[in-house]
Amino acid sequence: MKSLLRRKTLREIDQLEKIVSLFDGLARCEIAEEIPFQGKRFPIHVVEIGSENPEDPVVGFFGGVHGLEKIGSEVILAYMESISSLVKWDESFKKRLKHSRILFMPIVNPVGMWTRQRSNPQGVDLMRNSPSEGQGNKTMYSGHRISPKLPWYRGEKGKEMELEAKALCRVVKERMFPSKLSVAIDVHSGFGVKDRLWFPYSRGQEVYQQIGEVMAWVDLFNKTYPNHFYTIEPTSHQYCIDGDLWDHLVDEFFKINPNTMADKKMFLPWTLEMGSWIWLKKNPLQVLNKLGLYHPLIPHRYQRILRRHLTLFDFLHRSVLFPKPWLEINKDDVKKFHLLAREKWYA
Ligand SMILES: [Zn+2]
Repeated sequence: MKSLLRRKTLREIDQLEKIVSLFDGLARCEIAEEIPFQGKRFPIHVVEIGSENPEDPVVGFFGGVHGLEKIGSEVILAYMESISSLVKWDESFKKRLKHSRILFMPIVNPVGMWTRQRSNPQGVDLMRNSPSEGQGNKTMYSGHRISPKLPWYRGEKGKEMELEAKALCRVVKERMFPSKLSVAIDVHSGFGVKDRLWFPYSRGQEVYQQIGEVMAWVDLFNKTYPNHFYTIEPTSHQYCIDGDLWDHLVDEFFKINPNTMADKKMFLPWTLEMGSWIWLKKNPLQVLNKLGLYHPLIPHRYQRILRRHLTLFDFLHRSVLFPKPWLEINKDDVKKFHLLAREKWYA
């Protein structure tokens, strides 16, 4: 635990600390890093609940990588608040936590949130900051090294990753990789009218190694919630980017675990991109507000977004607890789902 000598600065951080106190000691809270800015120090919290066995399945919730997209952090904080109640009375939920862990890192870029910027204080877009290199056509949006004054700046070539990016990677490697099954979800908000659920890769059309299992997961989700509203696809279906942290972490995971098939081990990072044009369409004046492009400003819409993804979050948890129908399937089924995935996403 790093120094706690700091001034509270960000409303979302205050809210997070308040929610941690609602757990009545059932949550383990640490500060993964502190980001210095204008004489203050902004903590990046990591909160865990449930099993302390590192091999037990884990779901990780990440948010606020892009400072402007603070609705992602708020969606996770709202979920944490619900859980802080469930852990006290819901016996089935308590039972689930005996054999699994839930991890939260809801405010990855606190200074970006404080200054209402996408990037961190160095002008670096954290989701372009890893060593992962894109393939194929590049645009400015894919990430560039021209200047930190321009959006989507990757940082200087050859330089270490930024503190925030390193903290996220460290948390995933130390607290998720040891588990036999770890699923992450990183919550963003951006353009478009649909809520999109993305899996790797974002650097190009490369096929994810465990695509059969991903397809089996999607099949189970579709069957369990046939009326869900997500478009599920590899990130590269929408655009290709350099330096994606999750692509990089997947590379690291496969380096340590070259034989996932035999071990039935899996690390699967999802990105939830909430389609913020839906909010804009209904309230066009919102475009005049800097936050408005990424954040619902009308109260009832805001509340709706806070509860909109609870079903998905709960499904993520159940799916790591009960991997039989999607991860522990036989070789023929993996093959079948692999072919289905190729047809659907990589034809
Ligand atoms: Zn984002």
